[in-house]
This record gives sequence, C-alpha cells and structure tokens, in this order.
Amino acid sequence: VGMGTEYLEIRGLTVSFDGFKAVTDVDLTLLQGDLRFLIGPNGAGKTTVIDAITGLVPATGSVRKSGVELLGKKVHQIARLGVGRTFQTASVFEQLTVLQNLDIAAGAHRSVLTMLRKRRSILPKIEEALEITGLGDLVDKPAGILAHGQKQWLEIGMLLVQNASVLLLDEPVAGMSAEERDETGNLLRRIGGERTVVVVEHDMDFMRAFATSVTVLAGGKILSEGTVEEVQADPKVQAVYLGT
Ligand code: ADP
Repeated sequence: VGMGTEYLEIRGLTVSFDGFKAVTDVDLTLLQGDLRFLIGPNGAGKTTVIDAITGLVPATGSVRKSGVELLGKKVHQIARLGVGRTFQTASVFEQLTVLQNLDIAAGAHRSVLTMLRKRRSILPKIEEALEITGLGDLVDKPAGILAHGQKQWLEIGMLLVQNASVLLLDEPVAGMSAEERDETGNLLRRIGGERTVVVVEHDMDFMRAFATSVTVLAGGKILSEGTVEEVQADPKVQAVYLGT
C-alpha cells in the first residue's frame, strides 16, 4: 500500500507566531498513493502544518513537491503546482450547480473563449471527479441543496479538476453521519493511485478504517509515525491520548 515515489518532502518545518513555536522541526515524507492521517491533540500544530505547506503562514525549513521548493511561494502558485486543500467548512458556490462549481474550479469561467478551448481537456477531468465523488446524478443540482457530506465531496472534486496531486484535507468527516464517513473513506481510496492525500483528523475510527500511514503530532513536534497498528501500540501516543 502507498509505496510510490517520494512526492512531498518536508524537512525542518518550523512555524512561529510572535516567538511561539506552533510547529518545530517537522520532517514528513509523503509517497505517491499515500493516504496519510495527521493526528494529535488540539493545538498540536496539525492545521498549521497544512497552512505552512499551502503558503498561508510563513515558515522556515523546506517543503519540496517532486523536488520543487514550495516555501516562499504564494498561495496561488502552490495551488498551481498541484497542492490543494480543503478547510473545515466546505466552501462551494451554493447558487451554482455541481457542474458549474467543477467548471469554475477547472478555470473554465475566465472567458467564453477559454471555456470553449478548455472544454475538451477539462471534460475528462470533470468526469473523473464525478466518478470519484459519486456526484454524477447531481450535476445539474444547485450545490446549495446538497447534503453536508456531498458538499465536502464536491469540494474534493473541485481540487481534482484543478489537477491537485497532493490533497490536504482538514477534518473532512467532521459533522458527517457514519454512512457519509464511510463513503468519504471509500472516496479517498478512489483518489489514491498517483496522488497523495493527507487527512487531519480527530475521528480515530475513521483513521483505523482508512489510513495507510499515520503521523502523530504533539506540541508542534512529531511524536510518532508508522502504520495504524504501530502508532496505536506506541506508549508515547497512548500517554498523549490518555492525558487529554
Ligand atoms: P491543531 O490543528 O493541531 O489543533 P493548530 O495548528 O491549529 O493545532 O495550532 C497550533 C498552535 O498554534 C496552537 O497553540 C494555536 O493556538 C497556535 N496558533 C495557530 N494559529 C495561530 C495564529 N495565527 N496566531 C497565533 N497562534 C496560532
């Protein structure tokens, strides 16, 4: 499982807020096909790691995607290099249909000419996104009427049509029913293959069911890393989770 080439290589990642180190010297290597869960107590620095990778907060160290340094680049440049993220609350265009949301994500909205030119190249991507997200029957429905889970899936679909090969998802199953949660896990598996998915998560059952590897953060540092079994058996991890 998940043993591809190195995709995202993070070395010595450090983020400070007014002298307070929220993330300290984090090393992370993500492989193609990885479905990596990033867990840890509240305030461990999980979201800050994702913020640093996507250029939302300044950081020191190194974040390389297929050899290209991301640190110091702007948010939109990093997105264009194939690093996509979701936030804890889904942000889709509620007034527009599912298909229009995907079109916009693909950049087809910029002008009619661009749309016509791009149609041919983006259609297969939109089809793939619909297949992966299972939203095919809802293409003509306004996103506003979708269920909570479906909005999250649409947002993931929007990252896929943007050609994101690294997807960073911040608590994607928060607020979902058990059924939606399992469907999300299956969706994440369908993403797999050439891409890499990082999931910041609190839901341990979800992690156990779907993670191919796990990194545990505590106090801004990496506490443990490995398979679900290895991490769960680690006394350091047990101490942190019993202590909270
Ligand atoms: P997690 O996602 O693991 O719950 P966060 O990454 O949100 O943790 O936060 C890590 C630490 O950094 C926390 O102590 C938090 O208060 C602090 N922090 C996060 N963002 C900021 C910010 N913009 N300014 C100051 N402190 C922050």
